[in-house]
Amino acid sequence: MRTVIRGGTVVTPVGCFPADVLIEDGVIAGLGRGWSADVEVDAGGCLVLPGLVDPHVHMGLRTGEFTTSDDFATGSRAAAFGGVTTIIDFAAPEEDEPLDRALARRLAEAENRCQVDYDVHVAINRAWDSLPQEVQRCIELGARAFRLYTAYPGLRLDDGEIYTVLRLLKGKGALVRVHAENAAAVETMKAEFVREGATTPYHHYLSSPEFVEEEAVARLLLLQRESGCPIYFNHISTGVALRLIQQAKLEGQRAYAEVCPQYLFFTAEVYRREDGALYLASPAFKGERERLELWRGLERGMVDAVGTDHCSFTREQKMRYAGDFTRVPKGVPGVETTLPLLFTEWRRRGWPLEELVALTSYRPSRIFGLYPRKGAIQPGADADIVVFDPEEEWEIGADALHMNVDWSPYQGFKCTGKVKSVLLRGRVLVEDGRWKGRKPMGQRVTPVSPGGAGEWTGRDPQGGIVGPPVRGTKLGEFIWAG
Ligand SMILES: [Zn+2]
Repeated sequence: MRTVIRGGTVVTPVGCFPADVLIEDGVIAGLGRGWSADVEVDAGGCLVLPGLVDPHVHMGLRTGEFTTSDDFATGSRAAAFGGVTTIIDFAAPEEDEPLDRALARRLAEAENRCQVDYDVHVAINRAWDSLPQEVQRCIELGARAFRLYTAYPGLRLDDGEIYTVLRLLKGKGALVRVHAENAAAVETMKAEFVREGATTPYHHYLSSPEFVEEEAVARLLLLQRESGCPIYFNHISTGVALRLIQQAKLEGQRAYAEVCPQYLFFTAEVYRREDGALYLASPAFKGERERLELWRGLERGMVDAVGTDHCSFTREQKMRYAGDFTRVPKGVPGVETTLPLLFTEWRRRGWPLEELVALTSYRPSRIFGLYPRKGAIQPGADADIVVFDPEEEWEIGADALHMNVDWSPYQGFKCTGKVKSVLLRGRVLVEDGRWKGRKPMGQRVTPVSPGGAGEWTGRDPQGGIVGPPVRGTKLGEFIWAG
């Protein structure tokens, strides 16, 4: 079956140009003009963007008495409405559960439920004796990224364990991704506030202020340098951390920084609002200076990927213990709103669109080994495509969104630009803002690159040539260099 996306402007990490996109068997077969088609998708006046790769979501996450309101089915459908065609979620082993079994269990939860493609990264929450064997089995199951926590009692590893894991993963083509906060400092300050009965949402920020992230990032970068295992920092929320990571890159370290929209649009001041508990997330939102530093980091190319940390709890769940920040489930919904929010700002600031698709699609695909199947509109890539109307003005309202949650942090935000149509591997999921998908067709995308590390070989796993690499771009400079 031949599908043609007609009349749009294609945006790639290295340039924007008017072209039709020819799709055959779910794969991009050409960019050009004049093809006939079985299925036509109108992109007149629109941008044609690569589907977003959201490298950080939590669907159906259980935490204590709470389970997120979005599971793989509802969250992935909402993702598609937002132009996200690949999501990366996590497997957290239960007590004594081997890592590979946790991975298999989580993959089974996503299978046949996910409307978009997905991968699962494995959380290492203890350093058992059998860790090397379990890691090896995960790698055989296609895992190329492992998640570590420095925060959260019960999940976090101590420095010795972290260093052990980093050395273990080095040379296996795998990378670690970390939540970087100094847990001891956070727990100490938290306990002090609890003793004083000072547990408002704002005290969440006061008990995990800027320095707890700065310290942990500095420490982890040193451990990374000594171990040589690539490291990806989840949800960076401070300017100092961003600069530390940048400095490490300049010295040849393989370190990557992710930012999430909520840290770009909010500060800890929202915690003082009556509904401040809604916005509680971990790490806490920080001060205005940090927020501006993150934008500056985006402008200067210091950020490698945008992920949402999508973690949806209903208004009731968030507000149940609003007076005690220690009991409020942390996280905010956002998988559906990334593209319009960022596009609006990009347009206002006059920033190049190439950079936007690099941050939301190309670079996360490179880092996590999904490129060139994902991450760019080019021959041989999966036809994961967003037709985006850059002119439509609209206002975000939770009622009109598709996430299974009754509020949005961005309620009332005015956006310019809206997702019109979305294709996953050539199949239309969303057309003119209406759902066209049928039974879930999301597949797991395992890293295609040898070693999982985005190293271009020009060949797909089956051995066929899959198209030219995107080269000659400053965007890829830090990706697996050195
Ligand atoms: Zn997260």
